[in-house]
Amino acid sequence: MASFFHVNDAPFNRDGRVNQIKNFIMALAFEYKCELMKLASLLRPKQGGQIEVEAMEQANLLIKNAKLVDDRQQYDADMLILDGRIELINTQIDAADWPNIKVIDAKGLWLMPGGIDVHTHFNIDVGIAQSVDDFFTGTRAAACGGTTMVVDHMGFGPKGCNLHYQLEQYKQHAQSRAVIDYSFHGVIQHIDADILAEMRSMVEQEGISSFKLYLTYGYKLDDSEVFQAVSELKKVGALTTVHPENDAAIVQIRQQLEAKGQISPRYLGVSRPLECEAEAIARMINLAKLAGDAPLYIVHLSNGLGLDYVRLAQHNGQQVWAETCPQYLVLDDSCYEREDVLKFTLSPPLRPQAEQAKLWQGLIDGSIDTVATDHCSFSYQQQKQLGKDDFKACPNGLPGVETRMPLLFSEGLCKVGLVHHVL
Ligand SMILES: [Zn+2]
Repeated sequence: MASFFHVNDAPFNRDGRVNQIKNFIMALAFEYKCELMKLASLLRPKQGGQIEVEAMEQANLLIKNAKLVDDRQQYDADMLILDGRIELINTQIDAADWPNIKVIDAKGLWLMPGGIDVHTHFNIDVGIAQSVDDFFTGTRAAACGGTTMVVDHMGFGPKGCNLHYQLEQYKQHAQSRAVIDYSFHGVIQHIDADILAEMRSMVEQEGISSFKLYLTYGYKLDDSEVFQAVSELKKVGALTTVHPENDAAIVQIRQQLEAKGQISPRYLGVSRPLECEAEAIARMINLAKLAGDAPLYIVHLSNGLGLDYVRLAQHNGQQVWAETCPQYLVLDDSCYEREDVLKFTLSPPLRPQAEQAKLWQGLIDGSIDTVATDHCSFSYQQQKQLGKDDFKACPNGLPGVETRMPLLFSEGLCKVGLVHHVL
């Protein structure tokens, strides 16, 4: 009975108030998830760019007795959809007034906006492996879990490539494959005059208004490059997002571990301590301040010390936002003791259990703004095994796009009482 429903640019009418809520998803009650998955699995990419959503766009439906969730509250309501657009929401809409319309009884079900996952990696090539999810399987999984839009972080391109190069690659990846809405964050892998000059056209012509830079990995930027990038991004009206980890400290710690022969995957957690992340967060916050109070977004925050720095900046009126991920909320570093440890290789790594409560508190008090997934899937049986003797050789990343909303529902809403709008 539950069904998946997707409405583009639907006006949302209630008591004379009109909101624009882009996507609505029907019936995210988890006992009905099989039904949701069945419908989502019917989504097909269509060669040539367009996705086959005619059936949804032309839908005429009356959804009765739903528990409707919007940006302000939950309430019992009926929803009328004509030609794929939300026409009316009221406490009671009489089916007799709409004789040829399909009626769905959604009693006991939630009717809520589709989620947006602002941090995925589909089609990513990390050099040692290519992720197993492309824009079809990835966005289909998203739809199965109630997410109707993703903003993908593009992977690195060839050394020296410009900003538009990766965007064109990713447009190719997505346009004939994605079955839900999508957009991209730009990726900055080096800084020179040409890259700085290119930022404006990415924003103004391509609509790419956020960019990611890395403080670790092969394409890390040094402080001078970070400062130039953040200053220019501020100037062109774009948001800087950052993977913050102190690379120099990580390299040193890893060398110490290597000297002791401690390179198996169980040492991944201790190889990248949370202070490496927190230090880099603090540095980025101060560099953003120096760069004309540039807006800054911290991706995949995993620990309370980093959150303290974010809170301090927010308290001082700085434009700093933070994102965490379900894996940091529900998993901890005891996973590195497990036999299937390779399933848990990611950066930043899983943290001691005490960090989880700090992150939940950040969501509750609003100092963490977003829960995204950093979905980056590799096969356990093959690709992850590359790292079975040496964690450095393991492609890092976890899946999550499908389970994000159900996990937040069960672990956040039901257990922690989280009601902030973080989906
Ligand atoms: Zn990521």
